Amino acid sequence: MLPLPMPRLDAAELFALCSSTAKTKADRAALQVLTPDVVNAVAEYESAAETQTLHTLKHLRHSPGGPPTGTPPKTKHAPINRALTNGYTTRMVPEGRIGHSAYLKLRSSAPDGKCSLCGHITAGTLDHQLPKMLYPLLAVAPSNLAPACLPCNTAKGDVDPVDAEQQTLNPYFDHEAEEYTWLRARVTGPPFTATFHALPPPEMPDVLAARAQFHFRRLKLADLYVSQVGGAVRVDCQELKDWGRTPPEVRDHFARKAELWSRSGGRNCWQAALYSELATNTWFTTEDYLQV
Ligand SMILES: [Zn+2]
Repeated sequence: MLPLPMPRLDAAELFALCSSTAKTKADRAALQVLTPDVVNAVAEYESAAETQTLHTLKHLRHSPGGPPTGTPPKTKHAPINRALTNGYTTRMVPEGRIGHSAYLKLRSSAPDGKCSLCGHITAGTLDHQLPKMLYPLLAVAPSNLAPACLPCNTAKGDVDPVDAEQQTLNPYFDHEAEEYTWLRARVTGPPFTATFHALPPPEMPDVLAARAQFHFRRLKLADLYVSQVGGAVRVDCQELKDWGRTPPEVRDHFARKAELWSRSGGRNCWQAALYSELATNTWFTTEDYLQV
């Protein structure tokens, strides 16, 4: 997870902007009436996100005057929820629409335009921390929209948090998770095999530790990170072999890389985890790096 500063976009202004071009006059009027509810919902959401209690916001699933989104679309209240989510799907996402510049600004807010959830793939979408289909009042709330790649967004899905632990990490609110090294790589062999694991240290607060593990599992990060290892390691090993490096030099090389990646990509980026493991793996640094 890449920690991000809070978006510098005003939630009420963005909501007003996205509502201003709603398809019908009735929708525009209905959305305008909901402005105070949206502002309150965003304030409640941000307060709960700070205290890791998003699972307590079930009352926000109801847009005022209507049932929660997700009820059959034929119910008489469904149109207002659809009007709210349309603010995102038809007025922020499509190129040329009134809210698209805000969409682009949010989508590119992580370093190098990366996905803030996996920290690796380019962000091609925005992820709703609380799903818009369940929380329509938060459909265009900037602090509920984090830059994400499609695989992470799809894997996360429209899941409503059921308790404090089963929530993915939030790039805007969970900076504390990056104060602990919880991503670890393990290398075994022969043949060379790398795996990744979420192993929070004992000193990491319990809820945050459980969330880091949930985040890692839910977004299938083990598979993503493992798929990157071969290419990265082969180049290093070939170079070290060509230079005739000794095992201690090989260890120093990977320890240095681990430190550099930890500083540039965060202590829980897959590169920092992998190189840290390679630097301390005796089998790898004495034998296997030569088997390129
Ligand atoms: Zn991702």
